[in-house]
Amino acid sequence: MRTGHLFGLDSLRGRIRFFALLLVSLPLAMAAFFFALFQRGQLLEAERAQLADLLQQDRQTVQAWIDGHVADTKYLSRLDSVRRGDAEAIENTFRNYVETHALVSAVVCLNAQGYTVVDTLAKPGVYGGDRQYFQEAQAGRAALVTGIVGRVSGKPLCIFSSPVSGKDGGFGGVVFMSVPLDSLDAWVREITAAPGEGVILCDAEGRILAPARAIAAAGAATPAKASSRLLGLSQAGELFTDDAGKEMLGASVAVGREGWRLILYRPVSEVLAGYRRQAMWVGLGTLCAIILLTPVVLRFCRNLERPLEQLTAYVLALRETGYADACPLLPPAHAPRELRVLFQAFRDMAARVRGHIDEAERASLQDVLTGLHNRRFLLAAGAKLLEKARRTGRPCACLMLDLDHFKNVNDTHGHTAGDLALRHLAQVVAGCARKSDLTARYGGEEFVVLAPDADASRALELAERIRRAVAENPCRLGGVLLPVTVSIGVSGARPGATDGEVQLRDLLARADKALYAAKAAGRDRVMLEEAGREGARGSDAS
Ligand code: GH3
Ligand code: MG
Ligand code: MG
Repeated sequence: MRTGHLFGLDSLRGRIRFFALLLVSLPLAMAAFFFALFQRGQLLEAERAQLADLLQQDRQTVQAWIDGHVADTKYLSRLDSVRRGDAEAIENTFRNYVETHALVSAVVCLNAQGYTVVDTLAKPGVYGGDRQYFQEAQAGRAALVTGIVGRVSGKPLCIFSSPVSGKDGGFGGVVFMSVPLDSLDAWVREITAAPGEGVILCDAEGRILAPARAIAAAGAATPAKASSRLLGLSQAGELFTDDAGKEMLGASVAVGREGWRLILYRPVSEVLAGYRRQAMWVGLGTLCAIILLTPVVLRFCRNLERPLEQLTAYVLALRETGYADACPLLPPAHAPRELRVLFQAFRDMAARVRGHIDEAERASLQDVLTGLHNRRFLLAAGAKLLEKARRTGRPCACLMLDLDHFKNVNDTHGHTAGDLALRHLAQVVAGCARKSDLTARYGGEEFVVLAPDADASRALELAERIRRAVAENPCRLGGVLLPVTVSIGVSGARPGATDGEVQLRDLLARADKALYAAKAAGRDRVMLEEAGREGARGSDAS
């Protein structure tokens, strides 16, 4: 029996399937999910460690570059020619230096008054005494100055400067070399091993020195600054969300003595590009596993559903057939032990119910004391019998028997003896009647025999046989003989009557009337209806 939808949770079939598939798919999906999550974590961790390593390498390179230029500036500021103010010699040396150092755009020497003595990029005489590097030099300090725009080039620069000692040992001016930030950016991009554009070099105030793109975007007047989030990144690397809301992996480290910072970062989406492919394969694998397992699971479900459906069909058939033992119930082949037991229990239950029904039906139609049919059966079966007699035009007689002075039996010998006498009488009557006759206990000590095919004379004959048999076979009560007699009224079915039930009622009433007449005539006799004709009772019995 197939009812309900395939996965309708209102049916057992739907529930079994739903939960079985859930039990298979959920663990697989969870395993795939956690595996993917774990892989993601592993990948991010590996990438973070790699980023921290790269940062250290880049830091060393940038550090070496700064140290080199600081040392070179110091060296140039201490040259004899510089101290002497020999412009020609200075220019030669400086030009040589610029030509051999790609990032340096100019080397300049200023005298103590702040005017350029030599500038590899422009004519001398330009004033620079107001610049920070000049003031630092006046204070006797070498410096690395950022956030400055070249007066000659008009480009943002970073400047390495070193003071010059004059002939008397006092302040003799300053030598500086300028590095345009776009050149610095190109170099940083070249030396860093970090893929993509995720590298930032900024000074102590967070002003971006590289990439130049950021500086150009901000304009020379307002120097671009790295966000505090970027500047605060740890050296070991960490995940963070940038200003655009994108998830990033980044690290930062201090470089040089001026508080510069080098920052490396990568979008997490880039880092996880390979991972997404991997996750997709894991997902696909999980899906394939679920698809492959589904028929196996459904087959398993079917094995559980089929017996239950069979049982349901069996129960419905039992109900429809009124518990007839007609429908067979066999457990499916290879059914598990519990199901076979259940099937057997169902069969036993059905047989037992059938037995109880039979017993109840029998009890409702049989007289408990005598074992003869009871009044209910007589009325139902008698009506049918008369109906048949009417259809076939055959006669049918009715004998109504009543024990004579039965009350005396009860009073004298007790009710148990009376019951025994009733049973005895039932046996005697049944013994005299034919198989085709319907013998029933009609009331307390009244019995009825419906004799089909018996006309008046045959009915009288049967009644007389019964009367005599009763009289001649006294009931044996222990060692005592209990003589009983019976009076019998006889009536015959009348042709033309229609309904079997009406006919029976009439037949019984007439027999009763005849019985009354028999009693009135002295008992122990047979009396035929209407004429009140007495049967062939021997005078010996009166
Ligand atoms: P008569 O019919 O000859 O006029 O006399 P009676 O003594 O038989 O009269 P009546 O029909 O009035 O009495 C019937 C008695 O049958 C009364 C009752 O105690 C008894 N009786 C009816 N059913 C049973 C039964 O099942 N067992 C016993 N022991 N007695 C029963
Ligand atoms: Mg009576
Ligand atoms: Mg009686």
